[in-house]
Amino acid sequence: PPSDADVVVLGAGAAGLMCAITAGGRGRRVLVLDHANKVGKKILMSGGGRCNFTNTGTTPENFLSANPHFCKSALARYTPADFIAMVERHRIAWHEKELGQLFCNDSSKQIVRMLLEEAAAVGADVRTHCSIDAIERPDEGRFRLHTRLGTIECESLVVATGGLSIPSMGATGFGYELARKFGHALLPTRAGLVPLTLSGKHLDRLQDLSGVAFEVEARCNGASFRNSLLLTHRGVSGPAILQISSFWQPGDELRLDLLPGHDLPGWLGAQQRDRPAAELRTVLGDVLPRRFAQRLCEAWLPSRPMRQYTPTQLRQVADLLGAWPLVASGTEGYRTAEVTLGGVDTAGLSSSTMMSRHVPGLYFIGEVVDVTGWLGGYNFQWAWASGHAAGLVA
Ligand code: FAD
Repeated sequence: PPSDADVVVLGAGAAGLMCAITAGGRGRRVLVLDHANKVGKKILMSGGGRCNFTNTGTTPENFLSANPHFCKSALARYTPADFIAMVERHRIAWHEKELGQLFCNDSSKQIVRMLLEEAAAVGADVRTHCSIDAIERPDEGRFRLHTRLGTIECESLVVATGGLSIPSMGATGFGYELARKFGHALLPTRAGLVPLTLSGKHLDRLQDLSGVAFEVEARCNGASFRNSLLLTHRGVSGPAILQISSFWQPGDELRLDLLPGHDLPGWLGAQQRDRPAAELRTVLGDVLPRRFAQRLCEAWLPSRPMRQYTPTQLRQVADLLGAWPLVASGTEGYRTAEVTLGGVDTAGLSSSTMMSRHVPGLYFIGEVVDVTGWLGGYNFQWAWASGHAAGLVA
């Protein structure tokens, strides 16, 4: 095993491998260390096994961070088109699913293979099964890592150990601890892109509808996402909920437009005119899953023949359908979350190189940094872009 490298990258995930490819391409001797038994486990499980590897519509607005400007520089210098070019060089067939989301036609294994081939081509040495016991930087000089492979010294140390989600896939808080040890501030971490749970009467009212899905517009703290919602045994999931979960914290108000795109007062008025004898639940059952419409009219709305609603009552029905309050009790947590919000405070990093402002030669990239993308390929694009930015200088 090597005892010395120009650049050691901790974590052979999306960001770490991209960084290794870029730094290796500059002639740097790169060593990538990962404690897991294989590289890129999250890439492998991503996008339902097909890896939603980028989003063609990526802009800085698709990311959450205490400093929304931080991601701009890296994203501008490594774009979705750059990654697509690499994918095409490797003859990996892909398709756009919706909303700019690009997936492999066959398997996310192809993305991992591509990254490993690129890394090998530039001579980067990628080692798995390598845990790190301690890291020091004696006399402000080179970094010294005590690892399962022995002691390794390096000039640049890149931390790409990812977030806390899916601990069963090798996620650890190692990167955060290291950041703190080297004087970096951390922003509180929490699960993002995660199903929400319901409890008490809220769960009782919906639990038996598990599996029912329909389109909503979810709104919370100024963010809104129109996509599908899925009722589950424990609460709610589906893309609209995963998206809004990143903006929600316990106690925050969360509202769902159950019929997005409808002019609700106008539509209800027309229904009243055209079907005066029909009950509200029947009318709603034509545009919402029938069982959900039924439940809505048992628990939240009085169901009567349409002709019996006064204009004020009809207005109230429209208001409720357009901004139905979803009282979530929590999230399913890191066990199922796709990402971790918060992390290494960007105030301590250079946005053009990802280098620490406190410790020259130390870099943080990917999900460990307080930059978190929406659902839809944005998180990988951040991993590629931040890995590339660090790889150009580390
Ligand atoms: P990771 O890819 O998580 O890599 C971190 C690496 O560090 C891992 O290999 C880990 O083993 C290693 N490591 C951790 N701790 C240590 C340690 N102490 N010592 C040594 N090594 C360590 N994003 C998208 O853009 N599109 C998708 O389709 C998508 N699907 C997802 C599906 C699921 C189920 C999940 C969980 C996430 C998904 N994501 C998706 C998010 C995406 O996977 C991550 O944002 C991305 O992998 C982050 O890249 P990273 O390199 O920072 O971290």
